[in-house]
Amino acid sequence: MTIFSKIIAGDIPSYKIAESEKFFAFLDIFPIKKGHTLVIPKIEVDKIFDVPDEFLSELLVFAKPIARAIEKCFPCDRVNIITVGLEVPHAHVHLIPINRPQDMHFDNPKLKLSKEEFVKIQQQIIAEMEKAVSKW
Ligand code: AMP
Repeated sequence: MTIFSKIIAGDIPSYKIAESEKFFAFLDIFPIKKGHTLVIPKIEVDKIFDVPDEFLSELLVFAKPIARAIEKCFPCDRVNIITVGLEVPHAHVHLIPINRPQDMHFDNPKLKLSKEEFVKIQQQIIAEMEKAVSKW
């Protein structure tokens, strides 16, 4: 079982942002920017382009309201989607607010956030998503 499957199962804690039947989103524990979020399919497949079409095609649509909420909470030029995948063999995308290309570099020092700061970021993003839903 991958560490991300354990997170989905609730065996390892995470700062959950959103969940559906097929996907799970949570804050990256070693963020390179505030709001750095991971989106994962609820299936164990290592490489992103080995993910079955049904999941792959829906992943962006699941990520969209999350990315919009991150952009509202952490003003930036845009929220970018990045795949790396070299560390955890469970396909995932990173959502990262950026202003310049360097903001996406994984060599940048990771932010050291307290539990309280993670919870605040989590709550901010969730609140923005709820605001967006209530506008419909
Ligand atoms: P990569 O596989 O190279 O895309 O990197 C995996 C990402 O998962 C890294 O940015 C890690 O900080 C993040 N990560 C690893 N373990 C956890 C965890 N338990 N909770 C949240 N994020 C994690």
